[in-house]
Amino acid sequence: MKIIMLGAPGAGKGTQAKMIAEKYGIPHVSTGDIFRANIKNQTELGMEAKKYMDQGLLVPDELTVKILLDRVAKDDCKNGYVLDGFPRTIPQAEVLDKAVAELNESIDFAINVDVKDESIIKRMSGRRACLKCGATYHIEHIPPKQEGICDSCGSELVLRDDDKPETVKKRLSVYHEQTQPLIDYYSKKGILREVNGSQDMKDVFNAIVTILDSAVKH
Ligand code: ADP
Ligand code: ADP
Ligand code: ZN
Repeated sequence: MKIIMLGAPGAGKGTQAKMIAEKYGIPHVSTGDIFRANIKNQTELGMEAKKYMDQGLLVPDELTVKILLDRVAKDDCKNGYVLDGFPRTIPQAEVLDKAVAELNESIDFAINVDVKDESIIKRMSGRRACLKCGATYHIEHIPPKQEGICDSCGSELVLRDDDKPETVKKRLSVYHEQTQPLIDYYSKKGILREVNGSQDMKDVFNAIVTILDSAVKH
C-alpha cells in the first residue's frame, strides 16, 4: 500500500504516519526527518537544506526529489510506504507519479489531515521533538512520560527551531501557496480522502484505518 499524507505543518501527519506504518508494516518516510538527520550529521545536503528550513521555506525540488526517490527505491519500500511531508509541490507530485508509474504501480491514497490555521499555531508551540529517533510529543495533548525526555529512546526533547511562532506563520503561508494545490491534484485522480485532524489523535487514526481497510476488502 502506498499512502501520501497531506496537511498543513502541524496537522498531525507525522503522528498518524507513524501509527499507519506500525499497523500496516510499511516504512514511514518523512523528508523532514531525512533533512534533520542530515543537519545533525552536518552533511552537505543538511547544510544546504537548513538554509531554507530555518526560514520556513521549502527546500528546492531538485534536492528533495532526489532524496525521496533514493529512499523509496530501497528494499524495505517494496510493499509500499507512507509518505509524510512529500510531495509538497505539484512538480514533486508529478515526479513521484512518474517514478511509481515506471514500476507499473500507483499511489493508493492521499489522505488530507485537515486542521484550521488557528489550531496549528497552538499545536506547534507545544510540539517537542526527539532529534535522535524522530518521535514527536505535545506538552499538553501528547506528553512524554517524563518531561523533556523521549519515551522511545531516552534522548532530550527540543522545540524545533522552525516551530517558533514567526516561522510557523511563514510555513503556513508557504503551505497555502505551494502545497494546498495538491488537494485538488489528488482529488482529480480520485485518490483523495479527507479526515478531520482536530479530533483526538486516536479518532483521527480510526478514521484513517476505516479508509485504508475499505480498500483492502475491495
Ligand atoms: P512538518 O512536520 O511541520 O510538516 P517537516 O518535518 O515535514 O515539517 O518539514 C520541515 C521542513 O523541511 C519544511 O518546512 C521544509 O523546509 C523542509 N521539507 C520537508 N519536506 C519537504 C519537501 N517535500 N519539499 C520541500 N521542503 C521540504
Ligand atoms: P505534522 O507532521 O503534520 O507537522 P505532527 O504529527 O508533528 O504534525 O503534530 C504536530 C503537533 O501536534 C505535535 O506536537 C503532536 O504531538 C500534536 N498532535 C498530533 N496530532 C494531534 C491531535 N489529534 N490532537 C492534538 N495534538 C496533536
Ligand atoms: Zn527518541
